Amino acid sequence: MIENLMDTYKRYPISFSKGEGSWLYDNDGGKYLDFAAGIAVNVLGHGHPEIKKVMHEAIDNVWHVSNLYHIPEQQKLAKKLCDISFADKVFFCNSGAEAVEGAIKTSRKYHFEKGDKDRTDIITFKNAFHGRTLATLAAGANPKHTEGFGPLPSGFENIELSQQQLEEKISNKTAAVLIEPIQGEGGIRLTPKEDLQMIRDLTSKHGVLMILDQVQCGLGRTGDFFSHEWAGVEPDIITLAKGLGAGFPIGAILASTDASSGMVHGSHGSTFGGNPLACSVALKVLEIIDEEKILSNVKSLSEFLLAGINDIIENHKDKITSVRGRGFMLGIKCEVENTLIAETALNNGLLLVPAADNIIRLLPPLNTEKNDIEEFFNLLNITLENLPR
Ligand SMILES: *Cc1c(COP(=O)(O)O)cnc(C)c1O
Repeated sequence: MIENLMDTYKRYPISFSKGEGSWLYDNDGGKYLDFAAGIAVNVLGHGHPEIKKVMHEAIDNVWHVSNLYHIPEQQKLAKKLCDISFADKVFFCNSGAEAVEGAIKTSRKYHFEKGDKDRTDIITFKNAFHGRTLATLAAGANPKHTEGFGPLPSGFENIELSQQQLEEKISNKTAAVLIEPIQGEGGIRLTPKEDLQMIRDLTSKHGVLMILDQVQCGLGRTGDFFSHEWAGVEPDIITLAKGLGAGFPIGAILASTDASSGMVHGSHGSTFGGNPLACSVALKVLEIIDEEKILSNVKSLSEFLLAGINDIIENHKDKITSVRGRGFMLGIKCEVENTLIAETALNNGLLLVPAADNIIRLLPPLNTEKNDIEEFFNLLNITLENLPR
Protein backbone atom coordinates (compact mmCIF):
# COMPACT_ATOMS: atom_id res chain seq x y z
CA MET A 1 0.00 0.00 0.00
CA ILE A 2 2.81 2.44 0.74
CA GLU A 3 5.24 1.41 -2.02
CA ASN A 4 4.66 4.73 -3.80
CA LEU A 5 5.61 6.84 -0.80
CA MET A 6 9.17 7.98 -0.21
CA ASP A 7 10.37 5.93 2.67
CA THR A 8 11.03 8.88 5.01
CA TYR A 9 8.94 7.59 7.90
CA LYS A 10 8.97 4.35 9.82
CA ARG A 11 5.20 3.98 10.14
CA TYR A 12 3.14 1.96 12.56
CA PRO A 13 0.89 -0.45 10.62
CA ILE A 14 -2.32 1.29 11.55
CA SER A 15 -4.64 3.97 10.18
CA PHE A 16 -7.58 5.85 11.62
CA SER A 17 -11.03 6.42 10.23
CA LYS A 18 -12.71 8.55 12.85
CA GLY A 19 -11.83 10.88 15.70
CA GLU A 20 -13.73 12.48 18.53
CA GLY A 21 -12.23 14.59 21.31
CA SER A 22 -9.05 12.93 22.56
CA TRP A 23 -9.92 9.60 20.93
CA LEU A 24 -9.16 8.03 17.53
CA TYR A 25 -10.84 4.95 16.04
CA ASP A 26 -9.67 2.47 13.41
CA ASN A 27 -11.81 0.37 11.07
CA ASP A 28 -11.49 -2.79 13.14
CA GLY A 29 -13.19 -1.46 16.26
CA GLY A 30 -9.92 -0.34 17.86
CA LYS A 31 -9.95 2.76 20.04
CA TYR A 32 -6.92 4.92 20.89
CA LEU A 33 -6.34 7.68 23.41
CA ASP A 34 -4.48 10.31 21.43
CA PHE A 35 -1.79 11.83 23.65
CA ALA A 36 0.29 12.60 20.55
CA ALA A 37 -2.30 14.96 19.01
CA GLY A 38 -0.62 14.89 15.60
CA ILE A 39 2.56 16.07 17.36
CA ALA A 40 1.06 19.04 19.22
CA VAL A 41 -1.26 19.92 16.33
CA ASN A 42 -4.77 18.82 17.34
CA VAL A 43 -4.99 21.32 20.19
CA LEU A 44 -8.79 20.98 20.30
CA GLY A 45 -8.79 17.21 19.82
CA HIS A 46 -10.58 15.59 16.90
CA GLY A 47 -13.84 16.60 15.29
CA HIS A 48 -14.50 19.77 17.28
CA PRO A 49 -17.99 20.84 16.08
CA GLU A 50 -17.11 24.56 15.92
CA ILE A 51 -14.05 23.85 13.77
CA LYS A 52 -16.11 21.66 11.46
CA LYS A 53 -18.66 24.42 11.15
CA VAL A 54 -16.15 27.16 10.34
CA MET A 55 -14.52 24.95 7.70
CA HIS A 56 -17.89 24.34 6.04
CA GLU A 57 -18.66 28.06 6.12
CA ALA A 58 -15.33 28.97 4.52
CA ILE A 59 -15.94 26.40 1.80
CA ASP A 60 -19.37 27.86 1.14
CA ASN A 61 -17.84 31.34 0.77
CA VAL A 62 -14.33 31.46 -0.68
CA TRP A 63 -11.47 29.18 0.37
CA HIS A 64 -8.51 30.57 -1.51
CA VAL A 65 -7.48 33.86 -3.04
CA SER A 66 -3.89 35.02 -3.37
CA ASN A 67 -2.15 37.64 -1.32
CA LEU A 68 -2.54 40.07 -4.22
CA TYR A 69 -5.86 41.03 -2.61
CA HIS A 70 -7.05 42.01 0.84
CA ILE A 71 -8.07 38.96 2.88
CA PRO A 72 -10.28 40.15 5.78
CA GLU A 73 -9.96 36.86 7.71
CA GLN A 74 -6.17 37.21 7.55
CA GLN A 75 -6.29 40.79 8.81
CA LYS A 76 -8.58 39.77 11.70
CA LEU A 77 -6.33 36.87 12.66
CA ALA A 78 -3.24 39.09 12.57
CA LYS A 79 -4.96 41.69 14.76
CA LYS A 80 -5.98 39.06 17.28
CA LEU A 81 -2.43 37.62 17.47
CA CYS A 82 -1.04 41.13 17.96
CA ASP A 83 -3.67 41.99 20.59
CA ILE A 84 -2.56 39.07 22.74
CA SER A 85 1.20 39.52 22.31
CA PHE A 86 4.08 41.98 22.00
CA ALA A 87 3.79 41.80 18.21
CA ASP A 88 2.61 44.51 15.78
CA LYS A 89 3.05 42.63 12.48
CA VAL A 90 2.35 39.10 11.25
CA PHE A 91 3.30 37.10 8.17
CA PHE A 92 1.35 33.91 7.44
CA CYS A 93 2.82 30.76 5.92
CA ASN A 94 1.96 27.05 5.96
CA SER A 95 4.32 25.24 8.31
CA GLY A 96 6.77 25.53 11.15
CA ALA A 97 9.93 25.32 9.07
CA GLU A 98 8.62 28.06 6.79
CA ALA A 99 7.86 30.25 9.79
CA VAL A 100 11.38 29.80 11.18
CA GLU A 101 12.96 30.29 7.76
CA GLY A 102 10.93 33.50 7.36
CA ALA A 103 11.94 34.67 10.84
CA ILE A 104 15.61 34.19 9.90
CA LYS A 105 15.04 36.22 6.72
CA THR A 106 13.21 38.92 8.72
CA SER A 107 16.15 39.28 11.11
CA ARG A 108 18.80 39.47 8.37
CA LYS A 109 16.79 41.99 6.35
CA TYR A 110 16.27 44.11 9.46
CA HIS A 111 20.00 44.69 9.81
CA PHE A 112 20.52 45.00 6.05
CA GLU A 113 17.99 47.83 5.80
CA LYS A 114 19.65 49.57 8.77
CA GLY A 115 22.92 49.54 6.86
CA ASP A 116 24.47 46.78 8.98
CA LYS A 117 25.14 44.46 6.04
CA ASP A 118 27.59 42.20 7.88
CA ARG A 119 25.09 41.21 10.53
CA THR A 120 23.98 37.90 9.09
CA ASP A 121 24.88 35.22 11.65
CA ILE A 122 22.22 33.28 13.53
CA ILE A 123 23.15 31.73 16.88
CA THR A 124 21.25 28.55 17.87
CA PHE A 125 21.64 25.94 20.61
CA LYS A 126 22.49 22.27 21.07
CA ASN A 127 19.60 19.80 20.72
CA ALA A 128 17.47 22.40 18.94
CA PHE A 129 14.98 21.50 16.23
CA HIS A 130 13.77 24.19 13.84
CA GLY A 131 12.52 22.22 10.82
CA ARG A 132 13.65 20.34 7.72
CA THR A 133 14.36 23.02 5.12
CA LEU A 134 18.02 23.68 4.36
CA ALA A 135 18.31 26.81 6.51
CA THR A 136 16.37 25.32 9.42
CA LEU A 137 18.52 22.17 9.22
CA ALA A 138 21.59 24.40 9.45
CA ALA A 139 19.99 26.06 12.49
CA GLY A 140 19.30 22.73 14.21
CA ALA A 141 22.75 21.34 13.33
CA ASN A 142 21.70 17.78 14.15
CA PRO A 143 23.94 15.37 12.21
CA LYS A 144 21.08 12.83 12.09
CA HIS A 145 19.06 15.34 10.07
CA THR A 146 21.77 17.10 8.05
CA GLU A 147 23.86 14.18 6.80
CA GLY A 148 23.81 13.92 3.03
CA PHE A 149 22.00 17.21 2.50
CA GLY A 150 24.92 19.60 2.26
CA PRO A 151 26.01 22.14 1.37
CA LEU A 152 23.81 23.89 3.92
CA PRO A 153 23.39 27.68 4.00
CA SER A 154 26.17 29.37 5.95
CA GLY A 155 25.88 31.85 8.79
CA PHE A 156 24.67 29.53 11.54
CA GLU A 157 26.45 28.87 14.80
CA ASN A 158 25.12 26.15 17.10
CA ILE A 159 26.43 26.49 20.67
CA GLU A 160 25.96 25.14 24.20
CA LEU A 161 23.46 27.19 26.15
CA SER A 162 25.55 29.19 28.61
CA GLN A 163 26.21 32.85 29.27
CA GLN A 164 29.92 32.35 28.70
CA GLN A 165 29.41 30.65 25.31
CA LEU A 166 26.95 33.29 24.18
CA GLU A 167 29.18 36.17 25.28
CA GLU A 168 32.02 34.61 23.30
CA LYS A 169 30.00 34.16 20.11
CA ILE A 170 27.71 37.19 20.01
CA SER A 171 29.26 40.01 17.98
CA ASN A 172 28.61 42.75 15.46
CA LYS A 173 28.20 39.94 12.90
CA THR A 174 25.21 38.46 14.76
CA ALA A 175 21.74 39.06 13.32
CA ALA A 176 19.69 37.00 15.76
CA VAL A 177 19.64 34.44 18.52
CA LEU A 178 17.09 31.70 17.83
CA ILE A 179 15.82 29.43 20.61
CA GLU A 180 12.90 27.19 21.59
CA PRO A 181 11.74 28.15 25.12
CA ILE A 182 11.06 24.43 25.52
CA GLN A 183 12.79 22.04 23.14
CA GLY A 184 10.31 19.53 21.73
CA GLU A 185 12.04 17.08 19.39
CA GLY A 186 15.20 17.58 21.46
CA GLY A 187 13.53 15.85 24.42
CA ILE A 188 11.28 18.32 26.30
CA ARG A 189 14.11 20.41 27.68
CA LEU A 190 13.03 23.60 29.37
CA THR A 191 15.18 26.66 28.82
CA PRO A 192 15.56 28.02 32.36
CA LYS A 193 13.90 31.40 32.93
CA GLU A 194 17.27 32.88 33.89
CA ASP A 195 18.73 31.81 30.54
CA LEU A 196 15.88 33.41 28.58
CA GLN A 197 16.48 36.60 30.57
CA MET A 198 20.25 36.33 30.01
CA ILE A 199 19.69 35.93 26.25
CA ARG A 200 17.36 38.94 26.24
CA ASP A 201 19.93 41.06 28.09
CA LEU A 202 22.81 40.09 25.81
CA THR A 203 20.84 40.43 22.57
CA SER A 204 19.53 43.87 23.58
CA LYS A 205 23.01 44.98 24.60
CA HIS A 206 24.46 43.93 21.23
CA GLY A 207 21.59 45.13 19.01
CA VAL A 208 20.74 41.52 18.11
CA LEU A 209 17.18 40.24 17.56
CA MET A 210 15.76 37.50 19.79
CA ILE A 211 13.66 34.91 17.96
CA LEU A 212 11.60 32.42 19.97
CA ASP A 213 10.60 29.30 18.05
CA GLN A 214 7.25 28.43 19.60
CA VAL A 215 6.07 26.18 16.79
CA GLN A 216 5.62 23.37 19.31
CA CYS A 217 5.58 25.01 22.75
CA GLY A 218 3.35 27.99 21.87
CA LEU A 219 -0.40 28.22 21.46
CA GLY A 220 -1.38 27.30 25.00
CA ARG A 221 0.68 24.12 25.18
CA THR A 222 2.34 25.19 28.45
CA GLY A 223 -0.79 26.70 30.01
CA ASP A 224 0.27 30.19 28.91
CA PHE A 225 -0.64 31.18 25.36
CA PHE A 226 3.03 31.89 24.61
CA SER A 227 5.74 29.95 26.36
CA HIS A 228 7.95 32.93 27.21
CA GLU A 229 5.31 34.67 29.34
CA TRP A 230 6.39 32.91 32.53
CA ALA A 231 9.98 34.14 32.02
CA GLY A 232 8.98 37.81 31.85
CA VAL A 233 10.96 38.50 28.66
CA GLU A 234 9.74 40.06 25.45
CA PRO A 235 11.22 38.67 22.23
CA ASP A 236 11.46 40.52 18.89
CA ILE A 237 10.08 37.68 16.79
CA ILE A 238 8.00 34.54 17.48
CA THR A 239 7.25 31.63 15.18
CA LEU A 240 4.01 29.64 15.45
CA ALA A 241 2.57 26.75 13.47
CA LYS A 242 1.61 23.28 14.73
CA GLY A 243 -1.44 24.08 16.89
CA LEU A 244 -2.47 27.31 15.18
CA GLY A 245 -4.95 25.70 12.78
CA ALA A 246 -5.81 22.79 15.14
CA GLY A 247 -4.97 20.47 12.22
CA PHE A 248 -5.41 22.79 9.27
CA PRO A 249 -1.93 23.78 8.01
CA ILE A 250 -0.96 27.35 8.89
CA GLY A 251 2.16 28.98 10.29
CA ALA A 252 2.94 32.52 11.37
CA ILE A 253 5.80 34.91 12.05
CA LEU A 254 4.97 37.50 14.72
CA ALA A 255 7.24 40.53 15.04
CA SER A 256 7.45 44.02 16.46
CA THR A 257 7.16 46.96 14.04
CA ASP A 258 10.89 47.55 14.38
CA ALA A 259 11.97 43.90 13.89
CA SER A 260 9.75 43.58 10.82
CA SER A 261 10.85 46.89 9.30
CA GLY A 262 12.94 45.22 6.59
CA MET A 263 10.01 43.22 5.26
CA VAL A 264 8.76 45.54 2.57
CA HIS A 265 6.90 45.01 -0.73
CA GLY A 266 8.36 42.08 -2.63
CA SER A 267 10.76 40.97 0.12
CA HIS A 268 8.92 37.74 1.00
CA GLY A 269 5.87 35.81 -0.09
CA SER A 270 3.80 32.65 0.01
CA THR A 271 1.23 31.37 -2.47
CA PHE A 272 -0.94 29.59 0.07
CA GLY A 273 0.07 31.46 3.22
CA GLY A 274 -2.86 32.99 5.09
CA ASN A 275 -5.63 32.01 2.73
CA PRO A 276 -9.25 32.60 3.85
CA LEU A 277 -9.91 28.98 4.85
CA ALA A 278 -6.74 28.63 6.96
CA CYS A 279 -7.28 32.00 8.64
CA SER A 280 -10.97 31.37 9.40
CA VAL A 281 -10.03 28.14 11.12
CA ALA A 282 -7.16 29.70 13.10
CA LEU A 283 -9.37 32.61 14.19
CA LYS A 284 -11.92 30.11 15.48
CA VAL A 285 -9.18 28.19 17.30
CA LEU A 286 -8.19 31.37 19.14
CA GLU A 287 -11.83 32.13 19.97
CA ILE A 288 -12.39 28.64 21.36
CA ILE A 289 -9.21 28.84 23.45
CA ASP A 290 -10.81 31.91 25.09
CA GLU A 291 -14.39 30.70 25.30
CA GLU A 292 -13.67 27.21 26.56
CA LYS A 293 -11.04 28.48 29.04
CA ILE A 294 -8.50 26.14 27.51
CA LEU A 295 -5.50 27.72 29.23
CA SER A 296 -6.88 27.21 32.71
CA ASN A 297 -7.82 23.65 31.76
CA VAL A 298 -4.18 22.99 30.87
CA LYS A 299 -2.92 24.70 34.03
CA SER A 300 -5.19 22.85 36.43
CA LEU A 301 -5.09 19.40 34.82
CA SER A 302 -1.35 19.54 34.27
CA GLU A 303 -0.79 19.19 38.01
CA PHE A 304 -3.14 16.23 38.15
CA LEU A 305 -1.32 14.68 35.17
CA LEU A 306 2.12 15.24 36.71
CA ALA A 307 1.11 13.83 40.10
CA GLY A 308 -0.36 10.72 38.48
CA ILE A 309 2.73 10.13 36.36
CA ASN A 310 4.94 10.50 39.42
CA ASP A 311 2.86 7.84 41.19
CA ILE A 312 3.26 5.50 38.22
CA ILE A 313 7.02 6.14 38.18
CA GLU A 314 7.17 5.01 41.82
CA ASN A 315 5.85 1.59 40.79
CA HIS A 316 7.88 1.22 37.58
CA LYS A 317 11.28 2.71 38.37
CA ASP A 318 12.98 0.05 36.26
CA LYS A 319 11.15 1.34 33.17
CA ILE A 320 10.56 5.09 33.61
CA THR A 321 12.46 7.36 35.96
CA SER A 322 11.28 10.97 35.86
CA VAL A 323 8.98 13.47 34.19
CA ARG A 324 9.72 17.02 33.02
CA GLY A 325 8.13 19.86 31.08
CA ARG A 326 5.27 22.31 31.56
CA GLY A 327 1.52 22.23 31.07
CA PHE A 328 0.55 19.67 28.44
CA MET A 329 4.08 19.41 27.07
CA LEU A 330 5.63 16.69 29.19
CA GLY A 331 8.50 14.28 28.71
CA ILE A 332 8.92 10.99 30.54
CA LYS A 333 12.52 9.83 30.83
CA CYS A 334 12.70 6.13 30.01
CA GLU A 335 15.01 3.49 31.40
CA VAL A 336 14.05 1.03 28.64
CA GLU A 337 13.90 2.02 24.94
CA ASN A 338 11.37 4.82 24.43
CA THR A 339 10.33 3.33 21.07
CA LEU A 340 9.49 0.04 22.79
CA ILE A 341 7.21 1.92 25.20
CA ALA A 342 5.56 3.85 22.34
CA GLU A 343 4.96 0.65 20.39
CA THR A 344 3.56 -1.26 23.37
CA ALA A 345 1.37 1.74 24.24
CA LEU A 346 -0.01 1.74 20.69
CA ASN A 347 -0.81 -1.95 20.97
CA ASN A 348 -2.73 -1.14 24.14
CA GLY A 349 -4.66 1.79 22.70
CA LEU A 350 -2.49 4.76 23.70
CA LEU A 351 -0.71 7.09 21.26
CA LEU A 352 2.57 8.66 22.46
CA VAL A 353 5.52 10.31 20.67
CA PRO A 354 9.16 9.40 21.25
CA ALA A 355 11.72 12.24 21.37
CA ALA A 356 15.51 12.54 21.68
CA ASP A 357 17.27 11.69 24.97
CA ASN A 358 15.14 8.51 25.33
CA ILE A 359 12.07 10.56 26.17
CA ILE A 360 8.41 9.73 25.66
CA ARG A 361 6.49 12.90 24.85
CA LEU A 362 2.97 13.60 26.08
CA LEU A 363 1.22 16.23 23.96
CA PRO A 364 -2.49 15.71 24.66
CA PRO A 365 -5.16 17.93 23.10
CA LEU A 366 -5.45 21.08 25.23
CA ASN A 367 -9.14 20.37 25.92
CA THR A 368 -8.45 16.87 27.25
CA GLU A 369 -10.71 16.19 30.20
CA LYS A 370 -9.98 14.73 33.61
CA ASN A 371 -11.56 11.37 32.81
CA ASP A 372 -9.33 11.06 29.71
CA ILE A 373 -6.30 11.64 31.92
CA GLU A 374 -7.53 8.95 34.32
CA GLU A 375 -7.83 6.63 31.33
CA PHE A 376 -4.27 7.64 30.36
CA PHE A 377 -2.97 6.54 33.79
CA ASN A 378 -4.73 3.22 33.30
CA LEU A 379 -3.32 2.70 29.80
CA LEU A 380 0.20 3.74 30.81
CA ASN A 381 0.13 1.24 33.68
CA ILE A 382 -1.08 -1.52 31.34
CA THR A 383 1.64 -0.55 28.85
CA LEU A 384 4.40 -0.72 31.43
CA GLU A 385 3.13 -4.03 32.79
CA ASN A 386 3.02 -5.53 29.30
CA LEU A 387 6.41 -4.39 28.00
CA PRO A 388 8.14 -7.24 26.18
CA ARG A 389 11.44 -8.13 27.85
C1 LIG B 1 7.78 20.88 14.35
C2 LIG B 1 8.71 22.00 14.58
C3 LIG B 1 9.19 22.77 13.50
C4 LIG B 1 8.92 22.42 12.06
O1 LIG B 1 7.57 22.49 11.75
P1 LIG B 1 7.04 21.85 10.37
O2 LIG B 1 5.61 22.27 10.34
O3 LIG B 1 7.23 20.36 10.47
O4 LIG B 1 7.85 22.43 9.28
C5 LIG B 1 9.99 23.86 13.79
N1 LIG B 1 10.29 24.20 15.06
C6 LIG B 1 9.84 23.49 16.11
C7 LIG B 1 10.18 23.93 17.49
C8 LIG B 1 9.04 22.36 15.91
O5 LIG B 1 8.62 21.63 16.95
